[in-house]
Amino acid sequence: MTFDHSAQRLFMECRIAHNVAINASREQANYLLNVLRMKDGATVLIFNGIDGEWLAQVKHSGRKACDLLPIEQTRGQPEPYDLQYVFAPLKQARLDYMIQKAVEMGAGVLQPVLTQYTQIRSVNPKRMRANAIEAAEQCGILQLPQLRSPEKLETLLSSWNGERRLVFCDEGAEFESPITALAKIDDGKLAILVGPEGGFSPEERELLVSRPYVTAISLGPRVLRADTAAVAALAVLQAATGDWNQ
Ligand code: SAM
Repeated sequence: MTFDHSAQRLFMECRIAHNVAINASREQANYLLNVLRMKDGATVLIFNGIDGEWLAQVKHSGRKACDLLPIEQTRGQPEPYDLQYVFAPLKQARLDYMIQKAVEMGAGVLQPVLTQYTQIRSVNPKRMRANAIEAAEQCGILQLPQLRSPEKLETLLSSWNGERRLVFCDEGAEFESPITALAKIDDGKLAILVGPEGGFSPEERELLVSRPYVTAISLGPRVLRADTAAVAALAVLQAATGDWNQ
């Protein structure tokens, strides 16, 4: 079955199996019963990142509570996305936006990286996960990205698997269409790197461009904010070599 764009979709924290009722959380029950005003017997789509997507019936169990009864699997669980998104953490509202957009754009791994000019040195994993779930519910994907802990840029590069190309978004790169630049790289595993608000230091740029597995790309003649660069970079990557190009 294909994805039903108009249906409500909810992420579940538990396993999903045919006819095994699941208690909706208080927030989910409030959303279904009070915001959407769903009647007893109405249906929603549910997923958990493991068991695919299921059509589930809403079963009222009180004024403020309900269960969800999985009645039919609508899509099987796909393979996780392979694309890695490596990014310097930003202040909270921008980071929320960036995580949501990266998930919508098909990032399978979210790897925060700490650079010399990164002002925000930590991330809140719960908040990152909540943003990833919200984006997955919204855009119809069934696989949640893997959320990794922050790593220093040097550490990340010293343990980098050279079989994965790291596409470095470099506002200092000589301008060439990123589509043309990306078309030249071999098909295979990819990661994309976007820096912090302060950009990369000259030493970091040198370190990056000296690595054989790094391809620097320009995102045009304007300096983009990091959250804008995230969306732009992931869009050109998906268009040049990813799942917009199938
Ligand atoms: N260099 C500026 C500074 O010192 O504030 C701006 C850094 S920019 C806000 C943040 C990140 O977005 C950069 O590190 C880069 O990865 C990416 N970026 C922004 N504009 C870009 C462009 N035109 N081409 C490639 N990457 C860009």
